[in-house]
Amino acid sequence: MRLFFRGLMSSSVLALAACTHSPQTTKFEANCDFGNVKFSTNFETAHLNGCRKMASNSYELLIAPENTPINPSAWYAFDVSAPAEQVLNLTLVYSEGYHRYPIKKRIGTADWEQIETRPDPKSKTDRHSFTLKTNGDPVRIAAQPIFDTQKHLKWIETISNLEYVNQTTIGQSVENRPIIKLEEVDDPTKPYILIVGRQHPPETTGADALTPFVEAIWGDTQQARNFRTNYNLIVVPLLNPDGVLHGNWRHNMNGIDLNRDWGPFTQPETQTIQTELERFETGSDRIVAFIDFHSTWRNLLYTQTDNEFASPEGFTKEWLKVVDEKLDDDVYKFTREPSPNEGKPTSKNYMNSKFGITAVTYEVGDNTELGATQIASKQFAETFMDLFLRQSEIQEN
Ligand SMILES: [Zn+2]
Repeated sequence: MRLFFRGLMSSSVLALAACTHSPQTTKFEANCDFGNVKFSTNFETAHLNGCRKMASNSYELLIAPENTPINPSAWYAFDVSAPAEQVLNLTLVYSEGYHRYPIKKRIGTADWEQIETRPDPKSKTDRHSFTLKTNGDPVRIAAQPIFDTQKHLKWIETISNLEYVNQTTIGQSVENRPIIKLEEVDDPTKPYILIVGRQHPPETTGADALTPFVEAIWGDTQQARNFRTNYNLIVVPLLNPDGVLHGNWRHNMNGIDLNRDWGPFTQPETQTIQTELERFETGSDRIVAFIDFHSTWRNLLYTQTDNEFASPEGFTKEWLKVVDEKLDDDVYKFTREPSPNEGKPTSKNYMNSKFGITAVTYEVGDNTELGATQIASKQFAETFMDLFLRQSEIQEN
């Protein structure tokens, strides 16, 4: 897909970026084909807003958000084609925000490789230069290893193969992509856990954590079977498919942050959730916990404060304490961050205030290693099941 221009916004961004960031008169152009060297965006999640040649083998690449104001999660992704044995000097020029994600590259189907260290969060530079050695093969450059909608759909298909999991489409995005729900098929009288993910497109490490968490609960272990005897799970793993596909920094295709729309429910994606929650409002089904997966600078879980009511009482404190004891800090260090509901319409605040339940925002660090994320996520899920199973024993006795 072509992402260079997005109507009026993009052309004003181009003019602004050209005059504020560089003394040169060269403007950013939508055409990024310089003959031998080419920058292209013909893939899902691609994001590059313009290019200009500064000198031989030296290029500046404009990175601009979908609209403003916006959270500074400056996503970029593009392909570089160049003749063999060249050293390109590339500079990312941000029209908003700053360089947040260290550059990753991939050649063909090889593993992603991070080619620089993580930027200092305090540096907040809006121009970031790096060199790229090419050997004739096209190189994909991205802010994070790409986790696109195809990868989500593949995972959804795999999970749907489990005999006790149903896949249904519960709504459509702005651009009519399906919002898919995975749900256990049996006994609706059991209490429900709801898990959602990928409201924010660049937050791939959150998606890396959601998948093993769900796999642990829907896995073939004695504990998971016991858990499923007592609880139902609903998973909406990809709430912003358009944003992911278009490589957005934060928003859906109406320019709205979906995780500031729980309560207002003005967007088709969040309205899908609103409709899904009706069954819990009427009392026909009972919801007992909610988890929303995201990414941020470091590993943490936003919870209710100790003064806010959340059933089961004291659950997150106990849950995270036990996980902390089991996880080596060298592998996965995290903190519990009680954050008060100050009226911001996030999923966590909405679910807690509407249903009085434990509602958590599970945040994985942008630069947390995949293996560590998976180990931790499995541990979080196992302890979660263990504590909820104890809850159901208490209720039975
Ligand atoms: Zn987020």
